[in-house]
Amino acid sequence: MSLSNPADSAPDYIRNLPRYVPGKPASEVKREQAKPLRLHRMASNENPLGVSAKALAAMQAVMADAANYPDPSGHQLKARLSARLRVEAQQLVLGNGSSELLDLAARCFLRAGDEAVYSQYAFQAYPVAIHAVGATPVCVPARDYGHDLDAMRAAITERTKLVFIANPNNPTGTLLDAAALQRFVASVPRHILVVLDEAYGEFLPDADALHSCDWIAEHPHLLVLRTFSKAYGLAGMRVGYGVAHPAVADLLNRLRLTFNTSAMAQAAAEAAFDDADFLQRSRGNNAQGMAQLEQGLQTLGLPFIRSHANFIAIDVSSTGRSGAEVAQQLLAAGVIIRPLGANQLPQFIRVTVGLPEDNVAFLGALKQVLS
Ligand SMILES: *Cc1c(COP(=O)(O)O)cnc(C)c1O
Repeated sequence: MSLSNPADSAPDYIRNLPRYVPGKPASEVKREQAKPLRLHRMASNENPLGVSAKALAAMQAVMADAANYPDPSGHQLKARLSARLRVEAQQLVLGNGSSELLDLAARCFLRAGDEAVYSQYAFQAYPVAIHAVGATPVCVPARDYGHDLDAMRAAITERTKLVFIANPNNPTGTLLDAAALQRFVASVPRHILVVLDEAYGEFLPDADALHSCDWIAEHPHLLVLRTFSKAYGLAGMRVGYGVAHPAVADLLNRLRLTFNTSAMAQAAAEAAFDDADFLQRSRGNNAQGMAQLEQGLQTLGLPFIRSHANFIAIDVSSTGRSGAEVAQQLLAAGVIIRPLGANQLPQFIRVTVGLPEDNVAFLGALKQVLS
């Protein structure tokens, strides 16, 4: 037997993993342009307001301490989270973004032979996390581009150990009815972990605010994941958190890398969490921008999926072009968005809500594509 390198002997379920296709980096787009245009970064659901000035100041204040390891328990950040969320600090786990935590949940609770249930058109990191531990992904067909909770419940077998739910969902932006979701969680046997990924929850209007952390006392098999990457404007700092029953949080905390969140990330998250004004502006810009995009798309006659997050998925099949082709054309106009072919929605593009001028640029470029 002659293997050329160890990659050939990795397990099949690792070797068959799809590659993550990132949004095109702005620097690369700039380099490829004949004449430089103002670029509109609308591909990765980043915050168009940038970073909160308070978070930036907090990062600058800890930079000089970079020679020292961070607090491995994230004590101060957890104290703030615990007070505001009305949960015990022992119920919290910090992550290098919440995507680390969903991977950690899979590593903690799944092994080969186990099944994990998730929805079609849900976040692409779920099947990767499930495959990474050799478990079996069970993808349940979506209903109206969102989670079909009845079908997901029916897909649970005695092999199921974990269920992933994104609410609001990425990339479709759908939101589940809170009462139906709570009934679903209650119907899942308690030895199965339900991971509720709420990366976009902060964008919801007050009337739809998520209260799932309050459900944990009654439903100890619930892990709620949130992030500082989206509404808090800290995607580059990599920090998110999970809330769970203390026993579940304890397992996750034992398995995670000791120093998984940096000192700068912890300081930034603390300051951003306290910056109510920034969050308010972030939500305001998003609500206004979403209305602007919806109205523009209606005028252009392009159907879209009603979104509860900071992005919107648009059906471009009437252009006679695929999402990938439309994305390529928009790129030439300096507008970077995401085609959803990798999400099995080849006729869709996903655009992140930008500043008013980004939204205008996007709608203008899209109109060009249509003409
Ligand atoms: C962005 C996102 C996350 C978290 O991203 P991090 O930057 O790792 O915190 C988690 N779930 C979904 C569905 C997302 O879109």
